[in-house]
Amino acid sequence: MRAEPVYEIYAVRYAHHDRRASENFIGGDPHDLPQPLDFFVWAIVGSGSCIIVDTGFDEAMGKKRSRTIVKPVGEGLKAIGIDADSVENVIVTHLHYDHCGNHELFPRARYHLQDCEMDYATGRCMCHSQLRLPFEVEDVTAMVRKVFAGRVTFHDGDSEVAPGVTMHKIGGHSKGLQCVRVRTQRGPVVLASDASHLYRHFEEGKVFPIVYNVGDVLEGYATLRKLALDPGRIIPGHDPLVLERYPAARPGLEGWISRLDFNPEKKP
Ligand SMILES: [Zn+2]
Ligand SMILES: [Zn+2]
Repeated sequence: MRAEPVYEIYAVRYAHHDRRASENFIGGDPHDLPQPLDFFVWAIVGSGSCIIVDTGFDEAMGKKRSRTIVKPVGEGLKAIGIDADSVENVIVTHLHYDHCGNHELFPRARYHLQDCEMDYATGRCMCHSQLRLPFEVEDVTAMVRKVFAGRVTFHDGDSEVAPGVTMHKIGGHSKGLQCVRVRTQRGPVVLASDASHLYRHFEEGKVFPIVYNVGDVLEGYATLRKLALDPGRIIPGHDPLVLERYPAARPGLEGWISRLDFNPEKKP
């Protein structure tokens, strides 16, 4: 019997935003300390393939949104030996500007998206400035162009992109948000993306202020726990603590790229 594949996972930090904790929680935060956000893409490597989760944004978008690019996404991937030109599959967790920019970075890739996210980003909800705030029309139209180029696979609910790499619709923060579960040597690791921006969101049942449906955000925390089996294997989408808790992918990449398929205390 052939062993089931396990994967390496890399968190690649590409941008940063300094802000107060109160900006990250509905209802604010009584201890309003600095609570910056980091911005990541993730790479799932194994079985002779590499799957990218989200595509980040570029320098121009960083300027527009007052976020600081620390290292461009392509540079981060190169640092761990990933050639963006040869990537075949990209999972897009949702269509917010910080998750689906860099439209030309993966020229050969097929994009995996929930039906519901495309419906949301192109439908009547976008008539409301409050709801379209985290979207960029150029990102959404770039994805529509990929649909017409035959480069998008739509998913509805739970779906598999490779053996041991599955997508799970959560919604809440964005209507068609999906998380990604990856089989690793330490058990299933769940890339929550914006289903939990920070550890504190799922740990304390708090909600990030950009939201489509608060009930689905809160239900989503239970889904993350169920998928990961152990909350220690949930990876929040924007928490600077991720790079502190997990070892650098190799010496010299500290504060930039971490390996998530090792136990946090165990160095590679
Ligand atoms: Zn988002
Ligand atoms: Zn985000």
